[in-house]
Amino acid sequence: MNVIREPLAEKLFKPGIGEEMWSFANGLYPYCRSITGNGVRQTLNDVKKVIDLTIHEVPSGTPVFDWNVPREWNIRDAWIKDPSGKKIVDFKVHNLHVLNYSTPINGKFELAELKKHIFTMPDQPDLIPYRTSYYHENWGFCMTHEQMLSLEDGVYEAYIDSDHDPNGSLTYGEYFIQGESDETILFSAHCCHPSLANDNCSGVSVNTHLARALASMKGKTRYSYVFIFAPGTIGSLTWLSRNGDRIKNIHQGLILSCVGDAGGPTYKRSQKGDALIDKAVEKVMRDNSKEPNIVDFWPYGYDERQYNSPAFRLNVGLMLRSRFGLFPEYHTSADNMDFIRPEYLEESYKTALEVIDIIENDYKMVNLSPNGEPNLGKRGLYGAVGGDKKEYDANLPMLWMLNQSDGTKSILDIALRAKLPFPRFHRIAKILEEYDLLEYRK
Ligand code: ZN
Repeated sequence: MNVIREPLAEKLFKPGIGEEMWSFANGLYPYCRSITGNGVRQTLNDVKKVIDLTIHEVPSGTPVFDWNVPREWNIRDAWIKDPSGKKIVDFKVHNLHVLNYSTPINGKFELAELKKHIFTMPDQPDLIPYRTSYYHENWGFCMTHEQMLSLEDGVYEAYIDSDHDPNGSLTYGEYFIQGESDETILFSAHCCHPSLANDNCSGVSVNTHLARALASMKGKTRYSYVFIFAPGTIGSLTWLSRNGDRIKNIHQGLILSCVGDAGGPTYKRSQKGDALIDKAVEKVMRDNSKEPNIVDFWPYGYDERQYNSPAFRLNVGLMLRSRFGLFPEYHTSADNMDFIRPEYLEESYKTALEVIDIIENDYKMVNLSPNGEPNLGKRGLYGAVGGDKKEYDANLPMLWMLNQSDGTKSILDIALRAKLPFPRFHRIAKILEEYDLLEYRK
């Protein structure tokens, strides 16, 4: 039986998908997400309109390894009024104005007292910072440094209408596509940041549309696929704690975050460093871009930290464009919908599909005519005109495949050794298999 599959990336890549993903992200952008609460639900309900997402609610207080599911946070309104009664910051204008997970407040404060609860960025004075206080009770506002400097002495009124419900829950979503094997490829995006386009909406959007594309191949892929949408850290820990029996099936995985800006591409390797996912992403990025930024694993970042922790050691890497923490828009109001563009979302989507093509076709083939080179001319596989430079380029991947296919090297290994794009090896391996020159033996 032939094992090499039709390339998915060619089949599932549709013109206009970038615009579609951008519009979807744009719909998610205004929601006030946090680690729990209605912002996450609104986000996952939007995802559910595109794919048949299963949404899980895990009660607050549920133990999750060394943690507990936090109380559910919801916010309805928040503002500061200046001494004249004028609203100077308004949650309804920008949800970054409130310290995420803030406790409620309703009171009057002298400016000096109020300032203890105001967060700004002196080095980026015209931007609102994104700040959270998940595990330390506090109330607060975020504003531009310029605005804070302009505040005059007097008594200000601060109002935050929020609550932390001990009887609430944490919400995460999951979409599973069964393949021929139970072995599963995991894709995961966090969904806990409020109005931040690259560092949240981009990852959710690409993850959603990848899932939709793969769903059209249901039952025809070699591997099964799981797409997870969960609040950072506590969400992925919750998923891991509730899926003990399925974790052993996770073959490779990829976190998608900051996948919509003009920078990069960037790839952060799994803890292992040379897992199939690492080799596959690096190969696709090098095939498509002259200088991808490839960085080794380090224990800071997104949910790859949890998936790569000692108990799990899953082969999960992180795909980005600009590297988180290093682009000036990161965790600020400048990470808005202008900062991400359809063409970059599209590139990330295409990269992920090309990575899937490598993983799906990671076979070590055996040359069935190994006594010297097979006579390719008589099969019509070889260029009729000797010495033509174009023929040389066209035939090279075929000769590499035949020479290296002794059952010890995968198609990816061969493409890496030949330093030529993987799709050319994928295509020729499929042809050689059809001509009974290559075979997969378990
Ligand atoms: Zn972030």
